[in-house]
Amino acid sequence: MSESSPLPPIPFNRPAVAGREREYMEQALGSGHLSGDGAFTARCHAMLQAITGAPKVLLTTSCTHALEMAMLLLGLAPGDEVICPAFTFVSSVNAFVLRGARPVFVDIRPDTLNIDERLVEAAITPRTKALLLVHYAGVGCEMPALMAIAERHGLAVVEDNAHGLFGHYRGQALGSFGAMSTLSFHETKNLTCGEGGALVLNDGALVERAEIIREKGTNRSRFYRGQIDKYTWVDVGSSYLPSDLLAAYLCAQLEARELVQARRRAIWDGYDRALAAWADASGIGRPQVPAHCSHPSHIYYLLLPTLEARTRLLAELRRALILATFHYQPLHLSDMGRLFGGRAGQCPVTEDVADRLVRLPVYFDLSAADQARVVEALGAFRV
Ligand SMILES: *Cc1c(COP(=O)(O)O)cnc(C)c1O
Repeated sequence: MSESSPLPPIPFNRPAVAGREREYMEQALGSGHLSGDGAFTARCHAMLQAITGAPKVLLTTSCTHALEMAMLLLGLAPGDEVICPAFTFVSSVNAFVLRGARPVFVDIRPDTLNIDERLVEAAITPRTKALLLVHYAGVGCEMPALMAIAERHGLAVVEDNAHGLFGHYRGQALGSFGAMSTLSFHETKNLTCGEGGALVLNDGALVERAEIIREKGTNRSRFYRGQIDKYTWVDVGSSYLPSDLLAAYLCAQLEARELVQARRRAIWDGYDRALAAWADASGIGRPQVPAHCSHPSHIYYLLLPTLEARTRLLAELRRALILATFHYQPLHLSDMGRLFGGRAGQCPVTEDVADRLVRLPVYFDLSAADQARVVEALGAFRV
């Protein structure tokens, strides 16, 4: 390899253009309908309802906003408590902190990195209202145990399913267990429109109020369906509708989902096959997927033995122009988390894993040659 032609960098992520994205965005431009709930939004809703089996799915401006809608629908009040994993994205928690509720952080399982269902019951108090679950990397939480606890204590279950679209637990779709679940179409997710999300309503009784909250607290959705002759302010709400331009992009992605998923599966499985011997011999952990779970190949991660080894690995990959990255820092130890009583040692598995986890590039058009470069660079690393 000559000095004048260095290999191009391999990014951590590149959003997919998998099908008719450009064509559909042109159509949206030509349609004269750029605001929310146009023809492309309707097509996305229909596809997402068919995929999830939910009676209603509503596109939102982000998963963050879908979570906010979910927490509005739960009617949380100041002083309420919500149980959540300490190892997740801030949006899972902000959504109910915005309503005045307190997070009660629970540690994760060392195998799937999902909330440890064996620790949930001890975290319940008379103020607990809901259980916020995250299916990390799209591998399901232990749903039968968690749903039984929720039922026993009368808790609502909301699944932050940002990673788990197309994932299953014993054949049941992730996101279909709780009363509500949320999806993300941020550019780092399997399917994207840049910034976007969806609220999946598994409980039909929530649909009418969800439509109102999404439309600034008005009953405009009913007006558009001709069910009332004028619309008005009937509840609290905000503006959670994405532009139909973004829905056009997402529509093309949803249509291309099998292609996108097949490609990601090949990349994920390729890493796992190619790295197994090296990782096992080096004391490096690979993702553990229980036999009863199928996952959508969202994240491929490694667990280095120490923080020092992870720091060195990330630096060596960077020198090879490969962008790998760590993941969530423990939420209970963040500045905000400490305001809610978070302290070191409270969630030892989360604290340990956060220091050791490395995510590898996984994206739609990662070429076989580039993936081979990643594998080769890893193989040269000595713990
Ligand atoms: C990406 C992500 C979110 C936020 O998604 P946005 O669409 O960017 O708001 C929330 N929760 C989890 C677990 C995520 O991975």
